[in-house]
Amino acid sequence: MSGTLKNPFALLGRHYSRRAPPPSPRQATHLLARYASSPHRPLNLSALLSFGQPLTPDSVLASVAYALEEIPRRLATRVQSIESLPFIVGTNPYVASILAAHRDSFEWLATYVTPTSLEENADFAESLEDLVERHANDIPTLAKGFQESSKYMTNSQISQFLDGAIRSRISVRLIAEQHISLSRAIYDSSHPHIGVVNSRLSPADMIRMCGSFVTELCDATLGGSPVINIEGDRDATFAYVPVHLEYILTEILKNAFRATVEHHSKKNRGQNSLPPIAITLSGPPPGPSPNYFSIRIRDQGGGVSPANISQIFSYAFTTAGRGASNDDGSGGGPYAAQHVGGSAAIGDGGMGAGNLFGEITGKGLQTGLGTIAGLGYGLPMSRLYAKYFGGSLDLLSLEGWGCDVYLKLRCLEEAGDSEI
Ligand code: ADP
Ligand code: MG
Repeated sequence: MSGTLKNPFALLGRHYSRRAPPPSPRQATHLLARYASSPHRPLNLSALLSFGQPLTPDSVLASVAYALEEIPRRLATRVQSIESLPFIVGTNPYVASILAAHRDSFEWLATYVTPTSLEENADFAESLEDLVERHANDIPTLAKGFQESSKYMTNSQISQFLDGAIRSRISVRLIAEQHISLSRAIYDSSHPHIGVVNSRLSPADMIRMCGSFVTELCDATLGGSPVINIEGDRDATFAYVPVHLEYILTEILKNAFRATVEHHSKKNRGQNSLPPIAITLSGPPPGPSPNYFSIRIRDQGGGVSPANISQIFSYAFTTAGRGASNDDGSGGGPYAAQHVGGSAAIGDGGMGAGNLFGEITGKGLQTGLGTIAGLGYGLPMSRLYAKYFGGSLDLLSLEGWGCDVYLKLRCLEEAGDSEI
């Protein structure tokens, strides 16, 4: 690796394209079928990580060849699975737009001439970043499409489709982001860690980071928030993908914060005595693999009602918002829009009319920070992330008192056999 190479990211504009002429519709169909049916190669995490160990110009070029083989193969499979949805679901504008975006990205990648120099690769990596960006809203868009077409598919058909779509999306992002990261690191040797895995990720630091974001969001939305106490192996680190841990912790904390504030504002309105969220960290014990980092997130937010417990991991199940059809019958559910501290209200729930994305609609309070609940995707997606490398996520509810979420994440130093 050389720190003296000039970074062509800064020099190259869009004028330089390695794209072959676009395929005709017939060629595109053939191409798609060829990629979708290409033999399944055993793909694992160590193959992905090996391109950065060590990082050399040759390994970057090997990485781009890998990305150009594996990403279009996955996109082709997604295109086919969207196409095999019931016809009427495919005519939904949201679903149709996702299909079109997948086709475009597939064709672009499948016809891209594999870069043979770092300069050519830098141009590709930059375009790949744009591609990842263009797909950033795919899951909420699909969610909207399925919400509109829910009467044409059973819940289990929807969840099977979404599990596949989200898993494949996690893989595509891992492969793309690994390559983008290597493509940048080759010009800048000062990176603390190369690639998508941080071998010394600190859960305590990540909790503090996600906690401060969720605190801000919860304060702005609900007018207060509990504190977080971290116990156990606070100094322990493990190898993991930081963005995955960040996603899971943010979702679990949002749920815990919201339940705490809402439960206690019902009990003693006006008092600011919210019980803390207690997070216990248990680092991997020394010994044979497989090893896991375990995290317990404990709240006193009243727990989940028995009527809802079997549904909380279903896509789009939420008790947030007025008009939610799946609540516990208590009139809007424990997360129903209500006023805490006088001004804030929560956005409509995922099952309600209009506002699937759960923007904060109440009383003009727009935080611009995102939403604390409402889509009903937090738990099912967090669990998919946890299971992706062979971990788990479980929620236990002590009715009337609170919830424990048990998160077990596979340590990735030794999870090289994980399929991606
Ligand atoms: P959302 O937060 O958008 O509603 P989630 O998938 O994150 O979607 O959660 C689904 C539902 O599970 C929530 O609406 C809520 O009813 C319930 N839930 C999740 N976590 C907790 C918790 N810690 N305490 C009480 N209820 C919870
Ligand atoms: Mg949630």
